[in-house]
Amino acid sequence: TFQALLVEKGGDGAVSASVQEIDDARLPDGDVTVAVEYSTLNYKDGLCINGKGGLVRSFPHVPGVDFAGTVEASEDPRYRQGDRVVLTGWRVGEIWWGGFATRAKVKADWLVPLPDELSTRQAMAIGTAGLTSMLSVMALEKAGLSPLKGEVLVTGAAGGVGSVGVALLARLGYSVAAVTGRPDAAGYLKQLGAETIVDRSELSEANSRPLESERWAGAIDAVGGDMLARVLKQTKYGGAVAAVGLAAGAAVPSFTVIPFLLRGVSLLGIDSVMRPYDQRVDAWNRIAADLPMEKLEAMVVEHRLSDLPELANRILEGKVKGRVVIDVNA
Ligand code: NAP
Repeated sequence: TFQALLVEKGGDGAVSASVQEIDDARLPDGDVTVAVEYSTLNYKDGLCINGKGGLVRSFPHVPGVDFAGTVEASEDPRYRQGDRVVLTGWRVGEIWWGGFATRAKVKADWLVPLPDELSTRQAMAIGTAGLTSMLSVMALEKAGLSPLKGEVLVTGAAGGVGSVGVALLARLGYSVAAVTGRPDAAGYLKQLGAETIVDRSELSEANSRPLESERWAGAIDAVGGDMLARVLKQTKYGGAVAAVGLAAGAAVPSFTVIPFLLRGVSLLGIDSVMRPYDQRVDAWNRIAADLPMEKLEAMVVEHRLSDLPELANRILEGKVKGRVVIDVNA
């Protein structure tokens, strides 16, 4: 048997989640069995734990879109007992049973060998949020961004994607401006490496101007909505913006193509979930090389499986700061 956070749907349609002991025979089909050591909490997990957003299709369900652990058994030649692995995305924790458990069974294709430099706990302090930040930095670099080009903006900065983005960019030598709606997070963001704090209200209101003064050489946007439109209008000639998230909504009502046409600005779409294997390996290796681990530790709050229902509500309310690591054996 193994322990897991099981999400169940009652006859009245109400969804509830609790830690339960589950028989191994209920594990899904897969070719690699992993002893999970750590998982983490993403915005999406908040939705899955509450049965929201239509992400979970069948109940009972074990959520958890990310996990890191050690291979217990493998029918695939790429993995052997004792290998340390990390899994993010591939809709694990949504349509497949996921990482909020002490044991998981998955397809070998979905796993990435953990770089030697990273512990399983650090891998989950990073998680989908950190991997996505790294993928954003790599996409911005490919679009020509370098520290000499000027200030880089990170929106939703005190959240998971934002926190890792600030620390990564600062370590790479960028001058980082961090947008937050939480004035009390300013000290935290400066500690991660932000030089400038921008109050959310400065960018959250739509305006009808086609362009604003050029300010940012590039940006990582975890917020979407009208803030993304404002960021595009303020991006310097030839700059690029990585579109990652929708914390303020998916629609961008005040969007215009003017920044693309008059300033050659690029909008880069970032997906982490279906990202091909080779690019994942590259990104994890870049994280191991470039993310300052002491800064990562400053983002982490550790919790246990039984804390997840409460944490799920808090992340949906935008109240989680930095990264939550779940010690599934605690
Ligand atoms: P998170 O920890 O909850 O961070 C989101 C942050 O956005 C919050 O901490 C808050 O930062 C800000 N925010 C929240 N509501 C807002 C609003 N109404 N207006 C403006 N800012 C708001 O979540 P996360 O895990 O970092 O994920 C961030 C976003 O990226 C989510 O939308 C998530 O779905 C998406 N995501 C996408 C991918 C991908 O593959 N593309 C991967 C991971 C995540 P402040 O308090 O500092 O303002």
